[in-house]
Amino acid sequence: MIALVTGASQGIGAAIALRLAKEGYTVAVHSSNRQESRQKAEQIAQQCRELGAEAACFAADVSDYAQCDALIKDVKAAYGRLDVLVNNAGITRDNLLLRMSEEQYDAVIASNQKSVYMLMKLAGSIMLRQKSGRIINMASVAGLYGNMGQCNYSASKGAVIAMTKTAAKELGARGITVNAIAPGFIETPMTDSMTDQQKEAILSRITLGRAGTPEDVAA
Ligand code: NAP
Repeated sequence: MIALVTGASQGIGAAIALRLAKEGYTVAVHSSNRQESRQKAEQIAQQCRELGAEAACFAADVSDYAQCDALIKDVKAAYGRLDVLVNNAGITRDNLLLRMSEEQYDAVIASNQKSVYMLMKLAGSIMLRQKSGRIINMASVAGLYGNMGQCNYSASKGAVIAMTKTAAKELGARGITVNAIAPGFIETPMTDSMTDQQKEAILSRITLGRAGTPEDVAA
């Protein structure tokens, strides 16, 4: 079984890649084109291999249609099929609504939302021919409830939830399931930039009294 995990060089995506490797999947470890991320992805792929799984790295900017197309073609060329797509890559560009630039808004929509449409479409066509597949999209509680300073991010994640429901309706009868996960506060490089005050405010609302871990989400 072949699984492609986007944004798997660190954080939640890396934990998902490692968990899938542990479960016996062959893992396509995707990263952005940044050199540092490519190197980190190589380390995650190596850790997957140490768990006994086959793994290789694939770099692409998932906000770009041509690169998404090449990514899915490359994975298909390497393994002949695609069983699981985890749309995990995502960014934040936080700012209050009245200060948010068009650039900040568009960047988040392209990386978090449009990427999910493009990769579901491209992978979905392979899965349709296979008559089987699993697509898992990473949403967020911000897409359900909104979050201060995240007009762009909450819009993108709300859209991911809506797209997931639509794709599930379109593809379910063909043996393909489409689901979304909406994590709360998870400790990763994405949340490292939050201030202690922001973290404490969130933690005070979590009944477990601790942040989630990437491994919690991977499970
Ligand atoms: P992270 O540590 O920042 O990892 C995200 C990864 O996605 C990075 O490796 C990043 O690569 C990659 N990426 C972003 N945009 C990309 C693009 N256009 N093309 C290719 N790669 C791209 O974040 P995380 O916390 O693990 O989050 C993973 C997912 O969970 C995201 O979708 C996030 O929105 C969601 N989520 C996170 C939390 C949380 O509290 N952490 C909560 C709910 C949902 P570069 O570093 O090279 O840019």
